[in-house]
Amino acid sequence: MGSKSGQLHIFFFPFMAQGHMIPAIDMANLFAARGVKATFVTTPLNMPVVSKTYEKTKARGINIDIKIIKFPAVEAGLPEGCENIDSLNSSDMIPTFVLATSKLQQPLEELIQEYQPSCIVADVLFPWAVDVAAKFGIPRLEFYGTSFFSMSAGHCIRQYEPHKKVSSDSETFVIPNFPGEIKLTRMQLPDFTRQEVETDFSKFLKEASKSVLRSYGVVVNSFYELEPDYIDHYRNVLGRKAWHIGPVSLCNKDTKDKAQRGKEASIDEHECLKWLATKKPNSVVFICFGSTSKFSDSQLMEIAMGLEASRQQFIWVVRKGKNEKAEEDWLPKEFEKRMEGKGLIIRGWAPQILILDHEVVGGFVTHCGWNSTLEGVTAGVPMVTWPVAAEQFYNEKLVTQVLKIGVSVGAQQWIRMVGDGIKREAIQKAVRQIMVGKEAEEMRGKARVLGEMARRAVEEGGSSYSDLNALIEELKSHCP
Ligand code: UDP
Repeated sequence: MGSKSGQLHIFFFPFMAQGHMIPAIDMANLFAARGVKATFVTTPLNMPVVSKTYEKTKARGINIDIKIIKFPAVEAGLPEGCENIDSLNSSDMIPTFVLATSKLQQPLEELIQEYQPSCIVADVLFPWAVDVAAKFGIPRLEFYGTSFFSMSAGHCIRQYEPHKKVSSDSETFVIPNFPGEIKLTRMQLPDFTRQEVETDFSKFLKEASKSVLRSYGVVVNSFYELEPDYIDHYRNVLGRKAWHIGPVSLCNKDTKDKAQRGKEASIDEHECLKWLATKKPNSVVFICFGSTSKFSDSQLMEIAMGLEASRQQFIWVVRKGKNEKAEEDWLPKEFEKRMEGKGLIIRGWAPQILILDHEVVGGFVTHCGWNSTLEGVTAGVPMVTWPVAAEQFYNEKLVTQVLKIGVSVGAQQWIRMVGDGIKREAIQKAVRQIMVGKEAEEMRGKARVLGEMARRAVEEGGSSYSDLNALIEELKSHCP
């Protein structure tokens, strides 16, 4: 079922969270740049971020349509105006929010009926999209938003349940039938994997991870050279159809694209670049924990003390508004005054890839969300890994145990969205380990090589470029 013109027409419909929407926006852009008609589907309050990006794309002659469907937040038990996971006041609301998105099924069907796309790329958290696609006789591709490593690791853990064979939460186990002797503990697994008692949410997530089996295949933001063993494992051992088309962030080429990704940045890009321009190459560490992780005030205090003690220059993104009082409770006394010129705190949203790609940035402290991890790889910087939730502990193992371009800060416990419990000494030590000395240089050397490979992967003839072509050709033949 192609569009009337015979052109392939794809609907892109990500879950409403920055970590899902940002790569999906880039992905639609990539397909459109190859001549595919792309339509981005989202809800009214998420529309401005998308349209702002696509206005810039339009100036380059690439048109991406946006279609809006209503999200009945209040009806679903959510506060009025709550259309994105980052507008939730508490992480306890996440299951309600995720489950509520099934209310988008009906309006999506109406859109498909009206516009007759040839294919839909829908989020892993919309497992019902498989039924929608089947109803209209079109393929549903799944967008998982993580690494092949994590998809395969999650599968092997669910299948073989090694965490049930250890005697304590902190005893390590090796992921069975999985390349590379990867070690984890039960504490580092998501609660829905570890829990004995099923909840509506854990049942839903299991269903979501199984929906891949009923989908046409998976589109992944990764590149072959980064995780060849795990891409082969996913495709050949687990037998799943998957295409790697990333790093998708590389479609943002100029300063404006990089500066305005996702939400409005809380710092003017010129001010940010001016600050960076005063520094030497590889002398600044960037600290950012994605779009949803939160830290307690006492943890923020430890981070501040750890950074100061590391004697490294830094940009630190804190997702908190500025208090009225001059001194904020989570900062040591006169911290910013002491750090003037050495450290910059961005309260709110940072232009992450603009900062990471700058030559003065020599290290990244990350929560290991997949987008951030891959953006760190692409920038060629070593990382301090500080996973908190979701599949972040798996991504940490890829960085530290397989790629060996990072060191762990020592987070031991999966906690839904709230990081806590890491002492300043551990932060100081890990930051110095990636910024100074022989070990840091070695990791930076490896990270650089991967960063160059990432760039080559998306150039004409590169592994991701070719996989995207193969996917488009296959869809064209499937949808004449
Ligand atoms: N991001 C950003 N500025 C911020 C925080 C995050 O641009 O201040 C972007 C980041 O570059 C990445 C995405 O938001 O593309 C976060 O996705 P990730 O998978 O790393 O983490 P999540 O937010 O899903 O936990």
